[in-house]
Amino acid sequence: MRYISTRGGIEPISFGDAVLMGLADDGGLLVPESLPDSSRSLEKWRGLPYPDLAAAVMTPFLDDFESDEVKEICALVYGQGYGGEVAPLRALGQGRYLLELFHGPTLAFKDVALQLLGEIFERLLRRRGQQLRVLAATSGDTGSAAIAGLRGRPGMQIYVMHPRGRVARLQELQMTTVLDANVYNIAIDGTFDDCQRLMKSVAGDLDFKKKFSLGAVNSVNWARVLAQTVYYFAAYLQLPQAGPVSFAVPTGNFGNILAGWYAYRMGLPVQRLMLASNANDILPRYFQTGNYSRGEVHHTLAPAMDIQVASNFERYLYHLHDDDSSTVVALMSEFAQNGQFRTEHDHTIFASQAVDDEQVVETVAAAHRQTSLILDPHTATAWRAAAQLEPPAVVISTAHPAKFPEAVGRAIKERPTHPILEAIKERPTRRFDLSNDADKLKEFIESHAAEIPSAEVPQARV
Ligand SMILES: *Cc1c(COP(=O)(O)O)cnc(C)c1O
Repeated sequence: MRYISTRGGIEPISFGDAVLMGLADDGGLLVPESLPDSSRSLEKWRGLPYPDLAAAVMTPFLDDFESDEVKEICALVYGQGYGGEVAPLRALGQGRYLLELFHGPTLAFKDVALQLLGEIFERLLRRRGQQLRVLAATSGDTGSAAIAGLRGRPGMQIYVMHPRGRVARLQELQMTTVLDANVYNIAIDGTFDDCQRLMKSVAGDLDFKKKFSLGAVNSVNWARVLAQTVYYFAAYLQLPQAGPVSFAVPTGNFGNILAGWYAYRMGLPVQRLMLASNANDILPRYFQTGNYSRGEVHHTLAPAMDIQVASNFERYLYHLHDDDSSTVVALMSEFAQNGQFRTEHDHTIFASQAVDDEQVVETVAAAHRQTSLILDPHTATAWRAAAQLEPPAVVISTAHPAKFPEAVGRAIKERPTHPILEAIKERPTRRFDLSNDADKLKEFIESHAAEIPSAEVPQARV
């Protein structure tokens, strides 16, 4: 499988090059040149343990790896070491299901992709004798999953900036209690936007970027989308009967639901993909009116979805226009200039709904009354929107409720807990404080760059 850019500006490259490139060099997103047809393999895959299913789904995409190595990678990442089951499906009666993606090390669905990405990075870097320093900015949620994916791995370091004092306590502890030498938590004296600006400024210094092999793990990385297609297959294969199924997906950057759409394009029988947003409703507005227009960012009870411009959306636009990169280039430049564009298309498979904070609180309370399940605020958006779906319908649950005790506490009396989150309250922390200054950040990276754990092994295959 080869990968090309949605903007048409790069020659086809391998999976390994695509993963290490992240964002395409022409500013576009990397997409596979074609998709395998998995429809005839589906029944054969029924009953496979998750690691084997992941290898079966992903092998055609991982052209740098032999199929045996893909199996080995998936067994390492999604076996015992993962923590809990990767994607158990809970039946709720009347054709309704919950796909629980929060049993990984940081209790959120981002673990599914970032645990895999860490392992793939490690193997690619070792093979190529390269190093990677990942720079990331987080308002809480992504940071811990990225750290958990990369901690302790040779050949790489991760520098994660968060706004000092503005991250929920539990989420901050999930990051700062990781003491591995290759993990640098940096509290910036500023806001999340300042952290993002610092990241762009430092990564935008191309000499610096090259000298220190800076990279990113953001949600546009193809390996993340690919890893997420697997659990759509896993959900389907756990259903009691064959036939089309609908999914309701809490959506921010459009990565999770895009993976569902790719699974559909690969032959998974999907009836409907219900996109649920919080009050940041750029995508529901687009799917309902054809107008894609930037709005203000609202801070909500589902903070991992507080996004206005969905970074993965460009992939869908590209396929919607029959893989025509010149249309994508035109639409994206219109968006950059005017903050909006319009398309005239039928999105048959997609439905959408925006769910505000008040409705989130109501939904957490109602779901608890009806099923005694406690939903986290992100999952609650999808639960609410799923009411519009015909059964069988699967709600994708993206986080453990114990990560969001305040939001849950507004809806019900019970405070969900989790042993992982209780344990970190007692652990020592490691954190560096920096001012909101790109030069200071560069100095920091420069002074720690040599601490990178070695990736070289004598018998490395080149
Ligand atoms: C990141 C995140 C989302 C949004 O997923 P996207 O792939 O960005 O659409 C939803 N819920 C939780 C808990 C998340 O961390």
